Amino acid sequence: MNIAIDGPAGAGKSTIAKKLAEKLGYIYVDTGAMYRAMALYFLEQGILPSDEAAVSKAAEEVDISIAYEDGQQQVFLNKANVNGKIRREEVGNMASSVSVYPSVRRKLVALQQKLAETSDVIMDGRDIGTCVLPNAEIKIYLTASPFTRAKRRFDELKEKGQDCDLFAIQKDIEERDYRDMNRDESPLRQAEDAVLVDSSELGINEVVQAILKIWQERN
Ligand code: C5P
Repeated sequence: MNIAIDGPAGAGKSTIAKKLAEKLGYIYVDTGAMYRAMALYFLEQGILPSDEAAVSKAAEEVDISIAYEDGQQQVFLNKANVNGKIRREEVGNMASSVSVYPSVRRKLVALQQKLAETSDVIMDGRDIGTCVLPNAEIKIYLTASPFTRAKRRFDELKEKGQDCDLFAIQKDIEERDYRDMNRDESPLRQAEDAVLVDSSELGINEVVQAILKIWQERN
């Protein structure tokens, strides 16, 4: 049984998916981390996101893999663990820019599909229900208003002691949404058979309980 969770940046997908994976004993696959690892490689190589030929060549050469340590997903770039390096805004923005290219998506989608063949997975991303796992038994489209998502990110950064501007974060989120939803290749959209969950007014546990209820109904 596979569960697909799609939605825009900051909707709470990874928090919710991790909790569900723990409760259900599924493997959590964070596909955004794979796009980020590849983006980190392009940044390290000084490749511009606008240079599709260079991006495609590098995407072919690079080795991305994942493994689990104490149940936590670790992502490897050319065999080096890069979990600690991929959360920066710069890496997220590069990931969003290069994920429009078929050469980038093809490689990572194949890796994601392979993972789901051998285990029960709960996978989050932008195209899981529509493209990676079209036969997933449960599909959730998790969203929240741009302001709510920006505020969550703002609070997270503040807690880490980082100086940030709420409106700049919201602008960044809106730009990323636009790119993710309007690209030609596997744009972010709700699959026809996905259940829409708006977390703007819901706490983490309420969302987890709502999805668990759907899981129980289908078991
Ligand atoms: O989810 P996260 O913010 O880590 O993803 C980074 C970027 O990777 C997204 O903005 C999106 O452009 C891209 N992505 C994607 N398809 C996925 C997961 C992530 O295009 N399945």
